[in-house]
Amino acid sequence: MCIFCKIVNGEIPNNTVLENEEFLAFEDINPQAKIHTIVIPKVHVESFNNVSSAIMNNITPFIQEVTKKLNVNSDGYRLITNIGNHGGQEVPHSHFHILAGEPLRGLVNRA
Ligand code: AMP
Repeated sequence: MCIFCKIVNGEIPNNTVLENEEFLAFEDINPQAKIHTIVIPKVHVESFNNVSSAIMNNITPFIQEVTKKLNVNSDGYRLITNIGNHGGQEVPHSHFHILAGEPLRGLVNRA
């Protein structure tokens, strides 16, 4: 069983930000910004390559609810999903990173 499935079933503890029947948002254990939240579908899906349009349809308002709860909408945030080896995906359970809480730099930041 993958590490995020173990978080979903309670085998591994997490700091939950928001949860509903389908999705879980929790604090990243190794934060890359002042706010770093991971959002996952509870069902095991290996990567964005395998995510259904039904999941994408429902995860969108869930992520928006998470960012409201984190109070980052006005200052902004970055939403990232790493896919496969070249994308730097380490956990083989599709997830979105929400990075926020400070100005972010990186590959896609041209500022
Ligand atoms: P990725 O490299 O896109 O697969 O991202 C995996 C993320 O999961 C990393 O940012 C890790 O810090 C995070 N992570 C791994 N294990 C845990 C855990 N037990 N609790 C919270 N976050 C975790």
